[in-house]
Amino acid sequence: MFKASFITLFPEAFPGPLGVSILERARKEGLWSLETVDLRPFGIGKHRNVDETPAGGGAGMVLRPDVAAAAIDSLDRGGRPLIYLSPRGKPLNQQLAREFAEKPGLILFCGRFEGLDERVIEGRGMMEVSLGDFVLAGGEVAAMALTEAVVRLLPGVAGNEASLSEESFETGLLEHPQYTLPREWEGRGTPEVLLSGDHKRIQEWRFNSAKALTFERRPDLYAAYSKTPEFQAPETGDEHD
Ligand code: SAH
Repeated sequence: MFKASFITLFPEAFPGPLGVSILERARKEGLWSLETVDLRPFGIGKHRNVDETPAGGGAGMVLRPDVAAAAIDSLDRGGRPLIYLSPRGKPLNQQLAREFAEKPGLILFCGRFEGLDERVIEGRGMMEVSLGDFVLAGGEVAAMALTEAVVRLLPGVAGNEASLSEESFETGLLEHPQYTLPREWEGRGTPEVLLSGDHKRIQEWRFNSAKALTFERRPDLYAAYSKTPEFQAPETGDEHD
């Protein structure tokens, strides 16, 4: 069973959004489990201090390496990657989420204050992962976002496996626009082709829309996609006519 362990100063933040909907159902079905490890009891002295002023001076506080290591070492790693959520890390994307979904679980260290002493990142071989180019107040939300992206990929968690493979990023493109009932809403109709029942035309429309949207919004993704074999001979396009 996939196991996510969160090392945090705020265990009360969990499970939070991980405790609803498909992730909650999957957890009850035993497809994954979650534990929190409170960093505070590993702190130093009567006050269980976990942080100190930065060497060299400057603003804020830094999490102590000895305290962080004690919390990390209290866990059975069991082949799980040890991740430090950090704006300096490797940016999280769908491919990385897929890689993590192959693992027996994750250990996620949630930073606070100015972050974690560099020596424990090195000494415990932590992998730094970032949610994006912005700064959060702590690693908890980032750890939850990563866990949600990974757990929904585990076999049996998402109801419809096919819907996963057609999603944004899975094909290298953003997803096509979606429509549902009513067929007309506030004067806006539904593209005629989607009501045609012609599966081949629908596939083609979705593929072309996805390409156009990606080209417009994410030229970086489009450039990478244009180098793939699917772009040269698209599965849905070349069988047409
Ligand atoms: N001084 C640090 C930011 C500290 S923010 C710097 O400039 O890099 C406090 C904590 O929030 C970090 O230790 C990290 O765990 C978390 N955090 C902040 N932004 C994040 C992001 N974009 N991705 C992942 N974790 C983040």
